[in-house]
Amino acid sequence: MKIGIDPGHGGRDPGAIGLYGLQEKPVTLAIANIIADLLKAKGINIYQTRTQDTTEDLLTRSTCINHMKCDLAISIHCNASENRSADYIATYIQATGGEAEKLAAKVQEQLVKATGWLDGGVKVANLHMTRETKMPAILVECGFISNPKQEALLGTVEMQKKIAVAIVQGLLDYIGKEVNIMTVDEALVILKEKGIISAVEYWKMAAQCVKYLDNLLISFANYAKRED
Ligand SMILES: [Zn+2]
Repeated sequence: MKIGIDPGHGGRDPGAIGLYGLQEKPVTLAIANIIADLLKAKGINIYQTRTQDTTEDLLTRSTCINHMKCDLAISIHCNASENRSADYIATYIQATGGEAEKLAAKVQEQLVKATGWLDGGVKVANLHMTRETKMPAILVECGFISNPKQEALLGTVEMQKKIAVAIVQGLLDYIGKEVNIMTVDEALVILKEKGIISAVEYWKMAAQCVKYLDNLLISFANYAKRED
């Protein structure tokens, strides 16, 4: 499992700018970096489109995420509106009915719980990062930087952490329910990693000889994976 994390804007592109001067780019990067640390601590591989204040165009970002064969992609942004009272939090997907919608629903639920902000729901939009990536992809608009109250909060490490933890929680909820090991080979690798078996070849042979042993090994591996 590899998660693509895409902190919006950066370098020459500050993103949206709040009334009091907070730029979008350091906020998205701070949130993305916390997400990366949390996922790495969970033993989940990540790929980040930027880890510093660098300029990356959208095509480079989507191409790299595709090239790195990420299983899921999450873009982090902050919303902006001429209406300074706009203050909801929302998660964007390219289309309904797929895995991205399921992932978005889990993440959105956690975000609303963590921030207490108005639930903007899961929204469909035609965005480069959700359109050009080949895996289920979501784009989170972490509140409105154009709203002075939310701008003040988005500038704090406390809120950045809250948002990052919520996104990771939603992602783990999604992975826990949706991603199961399908083959005996995959199952044996997991069981070996967990120290449950020692000789992969032996069990592979046994699974070929003993009826239903393959299903049993797959169930064990899925169970062991959930124990993390
Ligand atoms: Zn943005």
